[in-house]
Amino acid sequence: MQTSESPPYVGRFAPSPTGPLHFGSLVAAAASFLQARSKNGRWLLRIEDIDPPREQPGANESILRALDHYGFQWDGSVIYQSASHEAHKDALQSLIDQSLAYPCKCSRRDLANAARGPLGIVYPGTCRDSKDLIDAAVRLRTNNTEIGFQDALQGRFAQQLESESGDFVVRRRDGLTAYHLAVVVDDEIQGITEVVRGIDLLDSTPRQIWLQRLLQYQTPDYVHIPVITHEDGSKLSKLTGANGISLNSATKTLCAALAVLGQNPPRELAYASISDVWSWASESWQIEQLIGQKTIVKTA
Ligand code: GLU
Repeated sequence: MQTSESPPYVGRFAPSPTGPLHFGSLVAAAASFLQARSKNGRWLLRIEDIDPPREQPGANESILRALDHYGFQWDGSVIYQSASHEAHKDALQSLIDQSLAYPCKCSRRDLANAARGPLGIVYPGTCRDSKDLIDAAVRLRTNNTEIGFQDALQGRFAQQLESESGDFVVRRRDGLTAYHLAVVVDDEIQGITEVVRGIDLLDSTPRQIWLQRLLQYQTPDYVHIPVITHEDGSKLSKLTGANGISLNSATKTLCAALAVLGQNPPRELAYASISDVWSWASESWQIEQLIGQKTIVKTA
């Protein structure tokens, strides 16, 4: 909660350029944008371009074009996560220097018989004493202290990392910085005070909070918004082939996104201008409409 002593609100939208902006990501972008506006805060746009093998040519440009067309206004220039490469490397080195992280050369095959937890394979700690960083992934040590947080919509969420995920990868074997480390370093550098994102990342958050603690960073507040599903319950996502949002009838699509967010835009708003829709939405924004919801069905 913001008090007079709280740092000024800074939020962000952080898409990976793995495909065009689809309806689910429009909803996430709108939620984080409106939340920042309602707190008179700053809203940053960070393109998470640190996983070239998963990126799609042209996706960055197409995401920016769509956000611009839909009237999103971000503060400052677009931030590219790849620009923080040195900061990612420094954070990794400090974890290694303190023996909080260690090299691991286990292959998928080596781990095939490991126990499985809610997040997949639980790393059994095979390489905990290893020192040889050449051609190795790097894993972060975990323990079974309960790591929990209070999500503004989803309530308290906690995990015991050692038994639920095991020591997890912070640098991949191909040398790329793993998502958890990159996101935590960037949120810290950019002074993010609240993260509003999809519920699919709820169970990543304890790992990110663990990293924040080990790196002595601030932990932002977290708001995980429900996932949008088709009527059959399947999730809309770039990977399941959800189409990029159309640039035609943007006002109507934006109103549909607000409706999914529980905001009840008046019918006639679908015929107004994009800036009128944002004015209405900023004034009436109430994220509380989504408390406790894990999924929302997109009907139209
Ligand atoms: N880049 C991530 C994605 O597109 C989101 C990261 C985050 O919001 O923490 O799924």
